[in-house]
Amino acid sequence: MLEALKKQVWNANLELVRRGVVIYTWGNVSGIDRSAGLVVIKPSGVSYDAMQPDDMVVVELETGARVDGKWNPSSDTQTHLELYRAFSSLGGITHTHSVHAIAFAQAGRDIPALGTTHADYFYGDIPCTRSLTQEEVQTAYELNTGKVIAETLRERSIDPLAVPGIVVRNHGPFTWGADADASVYHAVVLETVAEMALKTLLLNPEAVLPQFVLDKHYFRKHGPNAYYGQK
Ligand SMILES: [Zn+2]
Repeated sequence: MLEALKKQVWNANLELVRRGVVIYTWGNVSGIDRSAGLVVIKPSGVSYDAMQPDDMVVVELETGARVDGKWNPSSDTQTHLELYRAFSSLGGITHTHSVHAIAFAQAGRDIPALGTTHADYFYGDIPCTRSLTQEEVQTAYELNTGKVIAETLRERSIDPLAVPGIVVRNHGPFTWGADADASVYHAVVLETVAEMALKTLLLNPEAVLPQFVLDKHYFRKHGPNAYYGQK
């Protein structure tokens, strides 16, 4: 079942390694089949070197129950499922521990929009969530991680497709997109703009990006008046 989606999710997981945003098993990608109500996700703790499409795990969106695959799903599965349930526009989700994004997560800071590279992909600062409470960590930790991400986006009135990523405080980045490939792409871009922002802030802690430049760069690539690229 879901052979094409398994292959896409498998390849998207390997892409994280190829792009240098994941070492060991520090990341996971999933993709969803909305019509079937099923999510395909990386298995837990299986090395990327040996991983094959058939190693992907299929779980139910609503319950997380495994319906296909021989491994346990990623330990972060409940975070992915909560985000899919909260935002119907998401088709794929990626989680990494990429270094520069983590630096902002551990510092408890948004990744500020400081230049056009950021503005091309993220319409505004990339938020950092609040800390999870002791109870949220000790009970249903992964589910609560998804809930705090959704809470942050809603409180700030952020359309998840306009700002396709976040950093969870003291943890790291989650990104998403129309499908698994798009979520990986955003994970790589998020890590790159985090590195750019960190170095910018070292040189000039007061650096800012004017709103009209943010608007120009975001809207020339996204929305009804986009004109970047080929028609
Ligand atoms: Zn993690």
